[in-house]
Amino acid sequence: MTKKYAFISVFPEIFVPFSQSGIVKKATDSGLIQIKSFNPRDFLSNKDRIDDKVYGGGPGMVFKSEPIRKCINHAKDTFSGSSKVIHLSASGETFSAQIARELSKEDSLIFLSSRYEGLDQRVIDAEVDMEISIGDYVLTGGEIPSMVLLEAIIRFIDGVVGDEESVKNDSFENALLEHPQYTRPEKNELGEVPETLLSGNHDQIEKWKRKHSLGKTFLRRQDLIRQHDLNEQDIKLIKEFLSDLGYESDRIAELLSIINNEN
Ligand code: SAM
Repeated sequence: MTKKYAFISVFPEIFVPFSQSGIVKKATDSGLIQIKSFNPRDFLSNKDRIDDKVYGGGPGMVFKSEPIRKCINHAKDTFSGSSKVIHLSASGETFSAQIARELSKEDSLIFLSSRYEGLDQRVIDAEVDMEISIGDYVLTGGEIPSMVLLEAIIRFIDGVVGDEESVKNDSFENALLEHPQYTRPEKNELGEVPETLLSGNHDQIEKWKRKHSLGKTFLRRQDLIRQHDLNEQDIKLIKEFLSDLGYESDRIAELLSIINNEN
């Protein structure tokens, strides 16, 4: 069944090149997804404005609730179903691979972008199912976050990514960052491909990948590594990884004890 996605934005043209390129275009062309965009300005009465001053004072303008509500309802009618409405907001729940995977199960989603200082709270309370942020920083609009969500979500739909194994091996699957990757040539002025990867020894290659995945996650994302019940072999691989990087054994023990103490 085709999954349906709508972008609601006062700048719908932003989504045109995005929808006509790469994986999004491929998924659309093959009928796996359908994308539409709607402009809330089309739901304004003559000469009305989309925004107005904030009650209680304060800088900037806020999107009015009425055109947004009408636009959401129109988008829902177009998809003839009960689409979940996601408002992209800096104060929303932080987006993650887990949320993307969950949302990929929905038949249709509406991504609502606001601008200026945001959106009248009443339309959020009445029409929005989820507020999602793509990180702790403020952008000028929800359009880029909407595209970030859509792209991450559709990767979890069967058939969208050519090789489904590649999604399974992506960073954050199993709470691990992906190991480094190399392609031809085996040797160039920047260096050589690690010997193990050329060995053809499947067990050794898997071990190398796990070592680098665990090691990288250990150094960069202790929040993720703590989600693992590391076994002896994992600890050995992390030690090896750190030692290859030139860490002294005292420092390795110190780093590992931080994880163990906080587990
Ligand atoms: N006054 C708002 C605040 O302090 O949270 C910021 C408004 S921002 C200038 C305008 C719009 O950009 C927001 O309403 C939201 O749709 C979008 N936006 C900004 N940062 C975002 C983020 N980190 N994640 C998702 N959407 C964001």
